[in-house]
Amino acid sequence: MRLVLLGPPGAGKGTQAAILSEKLGVPHISTGDLFRANIGEGTPLGVEAKEYIDAGKLVPTDVTARMVESRLLEEDAREGFLLDGFPRTVEQADILTDLLSQKGVALDGVLNFSVDEDVVVERMLARGRADDNEETIRTRLGVYRDETSPLIEHYGDAIINIDAEGDVDEINERAMKAINK
Ligand code: ADP
Repeated sequence: MRLVLLGPPGAGKGTQAAILSEKLGVPHISTGDLFRANIGEGTPLGVEAKEYIDAGKLVPTDVTARMVESRLLEEDAREGFLLDGFPRTVEQADILTDLLSQKGVALDGVLNFSVDEDVVVERMLARGRADDNEETIRTRLGVYRDETSPLIEHYGDAIINIDAEGDVDEINERAMKAINK
C-alpha cells in the first residue's frame, strides 16, 4: 500500500503511522524524522535543514525532494510506504506524482487526519520537541493553512478523511476501517 498521511502539525500522524506501518507491513517514512536524524548526525543536509525547522518554516523543496526520492528508492519501500510530512505543498505533490509514475506506480490514497486547531496546539506543547514552542507552532500552523491544506482539494477523490480526535487506538481503528483493513 502506498499512502500519504496528511494533516496539521500535531495531528498525531507520526503516532498513527508507527502503528499502521506495523499492521500493514510497509515502512513509515517521515520527513521530519529524516531531518532530525540528519541534524543529530551533523550531516550537511541536517545543518541546512535545522535553521528552517527551528524557525517553523519549510525546508526548501529541492533539498527535501531529493531526500525523499533516495529514501523511496530503498528496497523496503518498493511494495509500499506511509509517507508522513511529504508532500507539504502542491509543488511537492507534483514531484511525488512524477517520481511514482517514473516507477510505474501510483498512490493508493491520502489519509487526511482532521483535528481542531486548539487540540493540535495542546498536543504540541505537551510533546515539547525542540521546535514546539508557541511562536514556532503558530508559524507552522500558518504554513499548514497556506501551503499544505490546498492539498486536500488537489488530491480530490483520493482523500480519505479520518477524525483524529480521541484516543490513539480509536483513531487507529478508524484509519484501518477507512482503508478497508
Ligand atoms: P509536524 O508534523 O509536527 O509539523 P514534522 O516532524 O513533520 O512535524 O516536521 C518538522 C519540520 O520539518 C517542519 O516544520 C519543516 O520545517 C520540516 N519539514 C518536514 N517535512 C517537510 C517538507 N515536506 N518540506 C519542507 N519542510 C519539511
